[in-house]
Amino acid sequence: ATVVVTGANGFIAQHCIAALLKHGYHVVGTVRTASKADLVRKTHSSHPSLALVVVEDITSAQSYLAVLRPMSPSAILHLAAPFHYNAADFEQDLMIPAVRGSTAILEPAAEIKGVRRVVHTNSFACIYDAAAGPRPDKTYTARDWSPLMYRDGVQASNAPTAYRASKTAAEKAAWSFMEERKLGFDLVSLCPSMVFGPFLPESKPKTIEELNTSNLLVWSVVSAGQSSAVPPTKGPVWADVRDVADAHVRALGVPEAGGGRYLLCKDVYCNQELADVSRRVTSKYADRIPVGEEGRRERHTHFGVDASETERVLGIRWRGLEDCLGDLVPQLFEIERNQ
Ligand code: NDP
Repeated sequence: ATVVVTGANGFIAQHCIAALLKHGYHVVGTVRTASKADLVRKTHSSHPSLALVVVEDITSAQSYLAVLRPMSPSAILHLAAPFHYNAADFEQDLMIPAVRGSTAILEPAAEIKGVRRVVHTNSFACIYDAAAGPRPDKTYTARDWSPLMYRDGVQASNAPTAYRASKTAAEKAAWSFMEERKLGFDLVSLCPSMVFGPFLPESKPKTIEELNTSNLLVWSVVSAGQSSAVPPTKGPVWADVRDVADAHVRALGVPEAGGGRYLLCKDVYCNQELADVSRRVTSKYADRIPVGEEGRRERHTHFGVDASETERVLGIRWRGLEDCLGDLVPQLFEIERNQ
């Protein structure tokens, strides 16, 4: 079977491609430029089952259709969307690519006969109500919805809010598309929390500045300096990128997952915990990692999460922080050393 992966050069997408190839799928990755196609090819050692195509504009259904129709895919993983907080114009830079991109990939899925399933990489941002503040008594599940609307993203006072609105509006647009038309495929929505974890060897960023947004959160903690304070926790829910990729592959193979929404989350965390675990598993860099108030936990002061439905339906088991940070943190210090 052939699976399309949009935004193939992205942090999570690269792991999805590795997992798909391992499971024997043929993969067609879409990227914005030829040089990004080369990078993805190199990451997967020019695997014979991997093809890359350039789609410059992810909001153009016609561009997708032209390049994807000849590939006869049976499924699509849609990961391409901006995830950064340095947008100058929230509507142009975040809302439009996320929201129009979300439906632009559904048009070719409707046109190409063999497509049976589309998996959208949405987010915990589509679930979480940031404006409600800390809610220690609240347990978020995939049945919760962020209250943010499109206009909240356009008028947001900060980029994280605009990003959360872009993801929420994009997911809503996709479900509306599915409701309005009689289609030959179904949709699965995956909602990952902050995704941490190692880069595949050839896809490591060259500089710290190029780090993807979620791993940058880890870097901001572990590079703070031994005697500095641990920065305040922002994310506070996480999953390992390899488990997130596994969930994408499983979402293709489980028929009853169709029409469902799944929270991808190992657990809540706090930055003191990231620092403590990183110091323990990467002692070589202990002089860089803040000691802070070792052992202090504020894990459940924000809210709780329950992803047991995901574990049940998709059969996911989550890696722990030790595994995740043990593989990621040395890579981050290497990137810094070699930049
Ligand atoms: P990356 O930033 O590593 O990858 C993003 C991908 O999307 C890249 O291929 C990028 O292409 C493409 N992209 C971004 N903006 C545009 C645009 N305006 N037009 C066309 N392509 C664009 O992000 P992640 O791998 O972390 O995220 C992948 C998906 O997962 C996103 O949809 C994100 O919202 C979602 N997600 C991520 C989480 C995380 O913690 N990492 C958590 C929850 C959801 P290019 O390199 O050319 O810019």
